[in-house]
Amino acid sequence: MPETNKSALVISAHAADFVWRCGGAIALHAAKGYDVTVLCLSFGERGESAKLWKQEGMTLDRVKAERRREAEQAAEALGVHDLVCLDLGDYPLELSREDKNRVVEVIRKVQPAFMLSHSQYDPYNTDHMYATQVALECRMIAQAWGHNPGEKVLGAPQLYLFEPHQTEQMGWKPDTFLDITPVWEKKRAAIECMAGQEHLWEYYTRVAINRANQFKRNSGGQASGRDCKYAEGFQSIFPRTVDEL
Ligand SMILES: [Zn+2]
Repeated sequence: MPETNKSALVISAHAADFVWRCGGAIALHAAKGYDVTVLCLSFGERGESAKLWKQEGMTLDRVKAERRREAEQAAEALGVHDLVCLDLGDYPLELSREDKNRVVEVIRKVQPAFMLSHSQYDPYNTDHMYATQVALECRMIAQAWGHNPGEKVLGAPQLYLFEPHQTEQMGWKPDTFLDITPVWEKKRAAIECMAGQEHLWEYYTRVAINRANQFKRNSGGQASGRDCKYAEGFQSIFPRTVDEL
């Protein structure tokens, strides 16, 4: 077997979610040599494309094509290795057993060192919390020796939950802050690919600045804290295994 790069996998309910919520993590790890795969379960064509639907004569196919184009541009700006769009529909997002097996196939093929998905609770957007449920279920199946025996089973990658919209309503509590200052310009460029959601550009810039403040506070504060201008927060699901605290 040839030596392969480390890899990571993002499971995004809709085509733009990965940009706002973990674009920095993607760009940073891509720059470190990881192969980052982004799996978009849908394009967000019904529920997250209001600006497009306000145009005269818009059709579902045109919205999907536009959302795919935006996602491809953003993925390129971030240095995504592979963008996989399953086009399973949104509002609501629903996966059959066969669809879930496709997700398992992607997980096993990527063999991620870590995974990223949505918060576990999201009353505003049940597609998001459903995507996380799917990520957990498919991670579990990918680990099962009896599922498609002979394939390489999955180890135990951490599942990081990225920051939701309306953070305080989601029961989401970050335990990890990632300094994305070195790749901020890439994240901002990817954000600006999302022409259909221009109202979010400045909002997610402010989120990154606020999380940077928390990075500083938790890395030593005024005493010895590292400077940080932009950060992303994550909540991890699984415990860490360590030899030293
Ligand atoms: Zn979404």
